[in-house]
Amino acid sequence: MIRIDPDKKRRRLRVVLPEARRMASACSACGHACGAARTGAGVGTCRAGLGDGDHARWQAATPHFGEEPMLVGRGGSGAVFFSYCCLRCEFCQNWQISRQGAGNNGHFSDLAQTFLKLRSRGVENINLVTPTQYILPILSALEAACARGLDIPIVYNTNGFDSVELVRLLDGVVDVWLPDMKYMAPEPAARFSHAANYPDTARAALRQMYAQAGPLHIENGVAARGVLVRHLVLPDDLSGSYDFLLWLRDEGMTDISISLMSQYSPQYRAKTHPEIARPLTVREYEDVVAYADKLGFENVLIQEMTSKDAYLPDFDREQPFHKRTD
Ligand code: SF4
Repeated sequence: MIRIDPDKKRRRLRVVLPEARRMASACSACGHACGAARTGAGVGTCRAGLGDGDHARWQAATPHFGEEPMLVGRGGSGAVFFSYCCLRCEFCQNWQISRQGAGNNGHFSDLAQTFLKLRSRGVENINLVTPTQYILPILSALEAACARGLDIPIVYNTNGFDSVELVRLLDGVVDVWLPDMKYMAPEPAARFSHAANYPDTARAALRQMYAQAGPLHIENGVAARGVLVRHLVLPDDLSGSYDFLLWLRDEGMTDISISLMSQYSPQYRAKTHPEIARPLTVREYEDVVAYADKLGFENVLIQEMTSKDAYLPDFDREQPFHKRTD
């Protein structure tokens, strides 16, 4: 198990917290920069808002064995799924929590206890899943948990729609960045996720994450720090897979770790869009994998296409990912 110095992290969190509070008071944590007063009664474009900056809402908190192998290790990734999301993806597989807001409200001290409980179950890291809309109470919870000895890496598992200001703020707090890169062009980003500025925002965020943390560093098979970027290949190259790989190369990020995901299936409202109403074909996926190889990327994780149904969570179940963790 990777160990992090909790006192050092706590010192950094104490510096970060006042700045995070300022950011949340007219929220600019994500690319919407909607300005909601998240330290008061404000509710964001993301629909998150609990009347102060001390509470968050989350659904499951569980050892998760379905993430990439270097996040899972032996003990599993300690995933905490936060409710709502700053993107509105028409094909979201986590729609029960991202769109319907499934979950329970809790004070940051409860969240700190949740982190510590996961740690006591032997997880390899704390995996904050879709955390941006609750960044202030999460940081307060981490500070409280570090004061009580939380000593494992923090994984920031994000849709990638994070402001550069936020990424800078989390330097020294986040150990492993786990962003998506969903689209490279504004038009599909607007049509399928209602955020035309997603590509520019996500590119800037990824550039900053990589500048801060560098490529993924793995110790004894487990991620200790760095960036692992996820890219879900969509039908008809709507996610701009080839442009994404070219952009990474042109940015000099050829040593970055990429998780190329084949698991797309038309969930939630996807069937209302003919372009994304079908699964990915084997050919579409394999062509992207071959292109990554051709460009010289060496740290590419690929997915079995036969397993795509196993990646679908059901947050009404006690174990949302039971098919993947059996
Ligand atoms: S995280 Fe939510 S409240 Fe903050 S800027 Fe984004 S949409 Fe607005």
